[in-house]
Amino acid sequence: MRSRPRAPETVAVAAGRPAATPGGPLNSPITLASALVPGGDSEYARHGNPTWTDFEAALGALEGGRALAFASGMAATTALLELVPPGGTVVAAAGSYYGTTSQLSERVRRGQVDLRLVDVTDTEAVVRASEDAALLWLESPTNPGLDVADIRTIASTVSAAGTAVAVDNTFATPLRQKPLELGADFVVHSASKLIAGHSDVVLGAVVTNDDRAYRALASRRSSHGAIPGALETYLALRGLRTLHVRLDRAEQNARELSSRLALAPQVTGLRYPGFGTIIAFEVAAGPVAAQKMTEVSRLITYATSLGGVESTWERRRRHTNEPVDVPESLVRLSVGIEHVDDLWDDLAAALDVVG
Ligand SMILES: *Cc1c(COP(=O)(O)O)cnc(C)c1O
Repeated sequence: MRSRPRAPETVAVAAGRPAATPGGPLNSPITLASALVPGGDSEYARHGNPTWTDFEAALGALEGGRALAFASGMAATTALLELVPPGGTVVAAAGSYYGTTSQLSERVRRGQVDLRLVDVTDTEAVVRASEDAALLWLESPTNPGLDVADIRTIASTVSAAGTAVAVDNTFATPLRQKPLELGADFVVHSASKLIAGHSDVVLGAVVTNDDRAYRALASRRSSHGAIPGALETYLALRGLRTLHVRLDRAEQNARELSSRLALAPQVTGLRYPGFGTIIAFEVAAGPVAAQKMTEVSRLITYATSLGGVESTWERRRRHTNEPVDVPESLVRLSVGIEHVDDLWDDLAAALDVVG
């Protein structure tokens, strides 16, 4: 008899498999269907698809809640923000993913919500700003500033006062941070990043233990139609099976690279929270040099997005919609699972080009 819960590494491999039937597949197949045979969970594939269900079972088991997959991280974010009552106040992490803050600003412009932006590293200020708010939206670590919130202290205080707490857990993944256990009510993911892990999927998810909110989100997904694709959920589940192995290696690389970058004279404002696979730093010689550096590398790919097996980087402000409080010369490096010496050779050569 098993006396302890399975370790997350085992859950990542074992959860969300179809019931064993002789001759049937071990892995969840890609169910391409609009209509399904009546009598099951769903008859029409906008309301449910067995491939989504298996991905959701695995992610839910890792986060410790019930997961719902959405067409993208932003579709998941939108579904959750739609639960805020009209005129309600949302408190959000300043320096969050620009897609989230720009959607919140749009909702403010349309008179749907009030918004207060907070520094997530200032626990007292976050708690104070959340009094009488409908929703506290934390992102930790933030993208791209890598600010880290004390989720346990914040969530226990804020949630007890009746404010729902959501955490965008894209950077930490359930293997480094389990917001529901820390007292949050919702976890949001861009599964496009570390969970799927191969830069070939756009997908999102919300995870919660609140049954009423789960039903409301599921019903909105059906009625608004921001549903995931069967192929995307299949690929994300396949990616999730190796999340722990990829994360361990990429994190080991990121730790090593960040300690070498700390000694590089061309680098200022180095940020690495001590865990995870993302590093941010500024290039002392300025934005033109930062841009050049990201374009001359040969192994580290000049590309947006993050969390893939391949290392990628970019100067964030090259996107005109990136918030202006992100420094012009800030480079966000997503560390992959290559050999760290090859990554450093490439990085060091790119640093040499700028000084
Ligand atoms: C990419 C990202 C999102 C948006 O997810 P999509 O899957 O691109 O829609 C949300 N939050 C964070 C932290 C992200 O990095």
